[in-house]
Amino acid sequence: MNLKDHIRHVPDFPKPGILFYDISTLLAHADAWKEAVKQLHALIAPLKPDLLVGIESRGFLVAAPLALELGIGFVMVRKKGKLPGPTVRHSYALEYGEDTIEIQEAALRPGQRVVVLDDLLATGGTMTAAIELIRKVGGEVAATAYLIELSFLNGRKRLEALGVPSHSLMVYE
Ligand code: 5GP
Repeated sequence: MNLKDHIRHVPDFPKPGILFYDISTLLAHADAWKEAVKQLHALIAPLKPDLLVGIESRGFLVAAPLALELGIGFVMVRKKGKLPGPTVRHSYALEYGEDTIEIQEAALRPGQRVVVLDDLLATGGTMTAAIELIRKVGGEVAATAYLIELSFLNGRKRLEALGVPSHSLMVYE
């Protein structure tokens, strides 16, 4: 099965000039979604993480079924103000302005190895912020993983500079 057959390409979304890779069609197809989770399992199981971390919101969709398959827990990284405290926050620059993400302080014990999941790696800005947040609470980021990687945006290199490897199922060059 070719997973790319289940990704819808949407021109000019959410803004003119942007080509959006829509995973809704993959999620809606039972066999394709099962295959995607199976392939992620094969990539992540050898890393033996203690926990998975998912990034709001499509990262949750990837991390939650994979955590069940691996028999380990799953922790949420959310936009600020969504998680009951105590929490730790990290602010990071966007193209215009800034954003803040949050994790519950007790979600990770210092030294725990985590793999962080999102649906798509583009510039790596979102994942860089998540890695910095996880490190703030003492977590060790073993790797990051995605359904889709837009390799021409060089997110992988940005994360390598932080010492974190990336795994992805579908690469668009
Ligand atoms: P980055 O921070 O790496 O530049 O962007 C990645 C983040 O933006 C991810 O959280 C991802 O969900 C979202 N994103 C950016 N472009 C797309 C896209 O074309 N499709 C999907 N599904 N998510 C995208």
